[in-house]
Amino acid sequence: MTLFERIIARQIPAEIVYEDDQVIAFHDISPKAPIHVLLIPKKVIPRMGEVQPSDVGVLGHLLLTVPLLALKLGVAETGYRLVINNGSDGGETVPHLHCHLLGGRPLGWPPG
Ligand code: AMP
Repeated sequence: MTLFERIIARQIPAEIVYEDDQVIAFHDISPKAPIHVLLIPKKVIPRMGEVQPSDVGVLGHLLLTVPLLALKLGVAETGYRLVINNGSDGGETVPHLHCHLLGGRPLGWPPG
């Protein structure tokens, strides 16, 4: 099981902020901003580079969840950033597709 599958299965504790049948969102254990939440599909897709046409439904659902999550986290008005790291140069460390939602302060650009 991936680390995030273990969170879905409640084998590892996490501060879950949203969950439905297709996705789950929880606070990052090592936050890089005042708001740093990971939004992930429950289906294991290792990374963006491996998405399949059959994933279109879950990926669309994941993106449609973002504004609801932002409202719930209090950053809908102030703004936020979505990040998906892919592969070693991208900084990916967990091979289970996840979208970082960062906010709560002005974020620098470009990222490091
Ligand atoms: P990435 O580097 O894009 O693969 O992101 C993986 C993220 O998972 C990192 O930001 C980690 O801080 C986060 N992370 C690792 N373990 C946990 C955990 N047990 N609970 C919540 N977040 C975690």
